[in-house]
Amino acid sequence: MAVLDQITSQEAMALEDKHGAHNYHPLPVVLSRGEGVYVWDVEGKQYYDFLSAYSAVNQGHCHPRIVNSMTEQAKQLTLTSRAFYNDMLGKYEKYATEYFGFDKLLPMNTGAEAVETALKLCRKWAYEVKGIDENEAQIIVCKNNFHGRTTTIISFSNDPVARKNFGPFTNGFIKIDYDNLEELEAALQNNDNVAGFLVEPIQGEAGVYVPSEGYLAKAKALCEKYNVLFIADEVQTGIARTGQLLAVNHENVHPDILILGKALSGGAYPVSAVLANDPIMNVIKPGNHGSTFGGNPVAAAVAMAALDVVKEEKLAENAETLGQLFRSEMNKYIETTDLVSLVRGKGLLNAIVINDDEESETAWNICLKLRDNGLLAKPTHGNIIRFAPPLVMNEVQLLDCVSIIIKTLKAFEV
Ligand SMILES: *Cc1c(COP(=O)(O)O)cnc(C)c1O
Repeated sequence: MAVLDQITSQEAMALEDKHGAHNYHPLPVVLSRGEGVYVWDVEGKQYYDFLSAYSAVNQGHCHPRIVNSMTEQAKQLTLTSRAFYNDMLGKYEKYATEYFGFDKLLPMNTGAEAVETALKLCRKWAYEVKGIDENEAQIIVCKNNFHGRTTTIISFSNDPVARKNFGPFTNGFIKIDYDNLEELEAALQNNDNVAGFLVEPIQGEAGVYVPSEGYLAKAKALCEKYNVLFIADEVQTGIARTGQLLAVNHENVHPDILILGKALSGGAYPVSAVLANDPIMNVIKPGNHGSTFGGNPVAAAVAMAALDVVKEEKLAENAETLGQLFRSEMNKYIETTDLVSLVRGKGLLNAIVINDDEESETAWNICLKLRDNGLLAKPTHGNIIRFAPPLVMNEVQLLDCVSIIIKTLKAFEV
């Protein structure tokens, strides 16, 4: 078979199954085209995308401005490495630091790389600015976190599937309960070796856990009190997803270190970044850290376009409005049924919890049925289904999706 021949869904899945590592368990649907809030499978069936590639495609599939900036830049210059300067990186760094309100940006490619970068930056700051003894720095993290897949990051995960038989692990992390300020203060007190507190403003992978109101602001204040860096992993929650440019903006928190990825490129290209002010970022000197592709001219062009689209199309405002509508419509349904116990979320990052035990297949089966009914979503952990459509959705489309979701759920009522 020639590589470019049109293949069926069955053939595409069989190829992945035979020739690809089995590190994912995808919903059985094979997509070949996307535009805005829609994707199409190889047989031509149209779906609403209600995952947005884990919130990477906030700006909608194949946004013409983002695609155009990518193709135009690709014709000019794609990669120099950081051995030389290129004429796009500085423009992008100026643009993005002004956009998010930081002195400096360190460019990487994937979310996990940006998290790793933030951890290294935090440790170096701890030794060189805070004055912690060499190799003694500790970073506080939360249970049920998701920060990526590298060896160090899974060292402080508590997901057995992500960790088992990947040891030995990296030391220097303290795990506390999410959304628990007493535990945070207890971990900070009487321990001069704490360098940072790494937190997701909403725990997305864990099942869209929204912390109590005031948690992030109070956690930031505690970090200030103990001279510890507040590190926000906004890879999933950032870039308008939760109804604000950043999820920490809901509580007027300015992180010491901000981690971005996913929608930083609108899903067109792997682009991630770490932002911080000079007293922190200036501990990084030539040779300390880097990436061949990080800060390449295509990434710079794509990220500027992707961020422009967020502002121009008022995606944060739209996510806020449609998110409220989504939760209120879902709540009306939830009052009538025992199948779903609740809907939670902020902006257009939401989840429903299916009223069944964790091991049951109900959420998966609902997602299969949603697919048949023209909407793509995926369970997170346990019996939780995340709903995160592109933020370019309009109200008519959202209400159409709500009716597909409710119609599908009703078929599972006993
Ligand atoms: C997806 C995600 C990451 C990892 O990003 P990759 O690009 O998959 O490496 C890190 N943190 C959070 C909160 C994420 O949602």
